[in-house]
Amino acid sequence: MSREVNFFNFSINKILSKNQSILDQAKIRLLYYGFWIVAVAVAGLFVSVYFQHQVLLSITAAILFFSVVVLFKYLTYRPHWRQISHALLVIATLINLNNVFIALQTVDIITIQIILLIILFSFYMLGQSWGLFYSLLNLIPVLAFMVLEYNSNYFIALRPEKVDQSTIIIGIFANFIIIIYIHSHFYSAFFNNIKQLKETGDEQQRLNGQLEVAIDKAEKSSQIKSEFLSTMSHEIRTPLNAIIGMSNLMMMANPRPDQQENLNVLKFSANNLLSIVNDVLDFNKIESGKVIFENLKFNLVDLLQNICGAEILKAQQKGLNFALKIDPLLQNKILFGDPTRVSQILFNLISNAIKFTPQGNIWVKAFLYEDKHNSIIISFIVKDTGIGIEKNNLESIFEPFTQESITTTRQYGGTGLGLAIVKRLLELQGLHMNVSSKIGEGSEFSFNMEFAVSTERVRYTADKSLLYPGNELLSSLKLLIAEDNPVNVLLMKKLLSKWNIIPTIAENGERAIEVLQYGNFDLILMDLQMPVMNGFDAAKEIRKLPDSKKAGIPIIALTAAALNDIKEQVLNAGMNDYVSKPFKPEELMEKIQSLVTAVPQ
Ligand code: ADP
Repeated sequence: MSREVNFFNFSINKILSKNQSILDQAKIRLLYYGFWIVAVAVAGLFVSVYFQHQVLLSITAAILFFSVVVLFKYLTYRPHWRQISHALLVIATLINLNNVFIALQTVDIITIQIILLIILFSFYMLGQSWGLFYSLLNLIPVLAFMVLEYNSNYFIALRPEKVDQSTIIIGIFANFIIIIYIHSHFYSAFFNNIKQLKETGDEQQRLNGQLEVAIDKAEKSSQIKSEFLSTMSHEIRTPLNAIIGMSNLMMMANPRPDQQENLNVLKFSANNLLSIVNDVLDFNKIESGKVIFENLKFNLVDLLQNICGAEILKAQQKGLNFALKIDPLLQNKILFGDPTRVSQILFNLISNAIKFTPQGNIWVKAFLYEDKHNSIIISFIVKDTGIGIEKNNLESIFEPFTQESITTTRQYGGTGLGLAIVKRLLELQGLHMNVSSKIGEGSEFSFNMEFAVSTERVRYTADKSLLYPGNELLSSLKLLIAEDNPVNVLLMKKLLSKWNIIPTIAENGERAIEVLQYGNFDLILMDLQMPVMNGFDAAKEIRKLPDSKKAGIPIIALTAAALNDIKEQVLNAGMNDYVSKPFKPEELMEKIQSLVTAVPQ
């Protein structure tokens, strides 16, 4: 890019700019100073041939001088070195051919010099292709001339001009100077270029070093953030466990109506706080790219019933009609996918539907969208007759910490993270969420998800009713609890006493192994963080016990850590399942029951 300069500019500095590469600058410099040398040489030649009355050569020298002046002016006005180089090469070619074929009608040392100059100049200035072009354009006719002359066939009705030795000396001298100048100039440009490349390389290395340090710092701080969040979650969830557990117990102990009301508020707030902690943690995990989707076998109908089973009560408490509609074609299907993430997505959508619907209906639908034999695409729809969403906000509600309006926050609470998590979970699987909504009429959220289909079929189709306490099997259950925290122990004991279960307590993993060896147990509830021996190690040791019945005892981990990241570690340690503290009594019971019935007695 050349700068705009005045027409009367003659300075080289004004036509050079930082935007030009070192090589382009060298080319412009070469033209600028080259023009001076050529002008002096041509002026000398002109004087020499003029006084020898060589008409043709004088005219040639005059034209050349004039061209040099014009091109020099053009260069200092607009440094278009490419066009100027072409013009110079065309002029040089014409002079060369004129000399050989018309004016001198011979090939002498000056011809050779001119050809050399053209070769050098064209290659240096215009690159390989043009270099070859101008070189051959000058060489071939000259060689042809030499062949013609050799056969004495060349004849032109014009007397060749015989110049004086002084002209030849000036010509040869000037040509050599220009050849040397072109070479030395390009050598220094080449050298500077390499030097600059090296400097750029050094600079780049320095920047790379800085970048590495910065990346390292960023990674460390992100790790510290994650660790901080995880520690905080543990610290918050442990007392929350106690609050929720205690309120559960108190609610089971027939409280007075006024106490019941207070307990409801207490439990509601604690659950709310828990879901906020979980949301923040989960979003943090998704953002840091730590989400891995599982490919587990699951029964879709069971899954949907379980998700809705928990939500239906909430809807009923608000006086809403709740309908779960499952396509009959999906009955009996065993699928492969990530049930935890499907639940999380649907759970968020259904919770929102209930939250933002003051009256009317909630529909949760799952239907077969496409059957590809080995896999199926299922359409999930969550629809409500709630407050609806403004058209303008249909995209922004998926942004983290964004709610439709400040009134929403005041009236309904929430963090604005639910839909952001849902959207990212879908996007990570290449899926998209569709929303349609009308203010005052309701909203519909839907998405399609593909699942591989197992060839296995569900053997039972009857609705699995939720398992409730008081089950015969439970009261005779021999439970071992490995837990060090006395508040948690108290909670567990109280909770289990409602189902007439009297557990045995071991205060750490090592003790649990000891107790297990001497007693007869059906199941272990294993806290993960304990002194002396933690839950993971204890589970691994148990699985190695020589008594196969004891080694195979079902173990449920009790974890206070964030929702999903612990699952893999728990399963790797040989445990069968886990419940996150603060757990819901029904969830714990359901898991206990499914494991105890699944294991042959
Ligand atoms: P939160 O529910 O914590 O506010 P979400 O990310 O789940 O956060 O939802 C973001 C916002 O989208 C909500 O605050 C609400 O304004 C709007 N929204 C989500 N679902 C519905 C719905 N079913 N009906 C009306 N508004 C909704």
